[in-house]
Amino acid sequence: MTAYLAVDVGGSHIACARVRGGAVEGRREIRLAAPTSLAATLPALEAHLTALRGSEPAGGLSIAFPGLVDPRRGCVVSTPAGKFEDAVGFDFAGWARARLGLPLLLEVDGRMALLGEHRFGALRGADDAVLLSLGTGIGSAALMQGTVVRGRGGHASVLGGHLTVAIGGPTCLCGNVGCAEALASSWALPRLIAALPRRGALHDLAAPDLKAVFDLARGGDAGAESVRAACLAAWAAAALNLVHAYDATRVLVTGGVAAAEEVVPFIQSHVRRHAWCLGEPPLVLRGALGADAALLAATPLWESRRDQL
Ligand SMILES: [Zn+2]
Repeated sequence: MTAYLAVDVGGSHIACARVRGGAVEGRREIRLAAPTSLAATLPALEAHLTALRGSEPAGGLSIAFPGLVDPRRGCVVSTPAGKFEDAVGFDFAGWARARLGLPLLLEVDGRMALLGEHRFGALRGADDAVLLSLGTGIGSAALMQGTVVRGRGGHASVLGGHLTVAIGGPTCLCGNVGCAEALASSWALPRLIAALPRRGALHDLAAPDLKAVFDLARGGDAGAESVRAACLAAWAAAALNLVHAYDATRVLVTGGVAAAEEVVPFIQSHVRRHAWCLGEPPLVLRGALGADAALLAATPLWESRRDQL
């Protein structure tokens, strides 16, 4: 079975791995400083990938990247605010060929996580599914009749966090208003918290994240309960939008806060009540592969795209 090298670019770190089928054979991480620059990160990335490759040949390299990616041209089109702005227009394929001697496939991180979960994880056997990733931002991806949805420029299905769920809502980093991401993501928390009465433990959090808010809400903090309710409502609306857009039978929820006990049942209940669909309402699931999903997608990505290079 062919081994591949795989990279998953996240908000706080980059994961690198050597994968073979559904197994991660070696894994390394690069911690990122803010603001993040691609040029400053590439030497460490090359060193880790060279070490992971070893003496055994690899079939290729995959990179899962946040933001907008054109998979056909193998380039980054737009990055999240303040992160890897120098990646736009960078020749990733040329870099991989020159520095590692490997062909490269570049994809959106959410789409890679969906591919990994479909081949090896919670979506095995489910050919019509959407993914909703909850964290610093909100990512999404879709699979229809076993084929991952890319669209004309590669942006189809990955902007689910930027579908409007609140007319007249807050302005999002993307320029739209009322996006789910603007209402219920880590970067939106300071605005949500600032709108609350100034009392309770929520205001004492130095760097609020979704997990901390949910932990406080479970402990009975009224402000955190209010923020949690707003987040759950936005995520459920976003999930239902994706179900209606892509005729999905599965909704896969990923990201650290997806493990919180309230998240999947709330979204499931909303989808069950409001989805207009044939047959059984879509099933809402947690990801099974955690942080490995986008890395393990290297094999299905290469298998599906080799003939297009
Ligand atoms: Zn947006």
